[in-house]
Amino acid sequence: MNIILLGPPGSGKGTMAGLIQKKYSIPQISTGDMLRSNIKEGTELGKKAKAFVNAGELVPDSLVIAMVKERLSEPDCENGYILDGFPRTIAQAEALDSIAKIEAVIDLILDDEKSIARMSGRRVCPSCSATYHVSVIGDEKLCSKCGTELVIRKDDEESTIRNRLKIYHEMTSPLEEYYRKKGLLVSIDVDGSIEENFAKILSALGVYS
Ligand code: AMP
Repeated sequence: MNIILLGPPGSGKGTMAGLIQKKYSIPQISTGDMLRSNIKEGTELGKKAKAFVNAGELVPDSLVIAMVKERLSEPDCENGYILDGFPRTIAQAEALDSIAKIEAVIDLILDDEKSIARMSGRRVCPSCSATYHVSVIGDEKLCSKCGTELVIRKDDEESTIRNRLKIYHEMTSPLEEYYRKKGLLVSIDVDGSIEENFAKILSALGVYS
């Protein structure tokens, strides 16, 4: 089962991919997480990607495609995977077509104002990467898993959020048509709770289980 999760920043791709990973025991491949960990470790890729990620711009296709190709060749991907945050451009989708057979593309639908509200309330743990939302944790400043002080992701800062959405509409939205034509696109309205949204995804994936 090879699945893609599409959706604007703030639509909950990471959360949903994590739940699918648990349910089906297939790895969640988040290009955003991979890039952030390369930046944190100061690798060559991280040095090249840093300015793009912090500004909310897309990292050049060639870098991301090479990173994903390598990851998909690892043994844990043999029985399937969930791609979270990849592809984000038509060039990336075409490169993926040349190395993988995708069975479903789940398109998470959320309007811009809701995406902005979700992103601006997001807090992350810089140590263990756990994600929280101020609507749930209120004034709590520490990670409940490891006690580290929570931070706002650099690209979740107000000024960057609108740029990320603009880029999403320009560069990534065309993928909806790309996968619709292939008969792979399933659109899911993710306006509800995490549980409701996940239930909709599971029922959409039911045919593949
Ligand atoms: P995300 O965590 O998926 O929101 O990704 C965070 C940032 O990483 C994005 O704003 C981009 O700068 C970069 N990024 C993640 N995935 C990709 C991709 N497939 N192509 C280009 N840049 C990406």
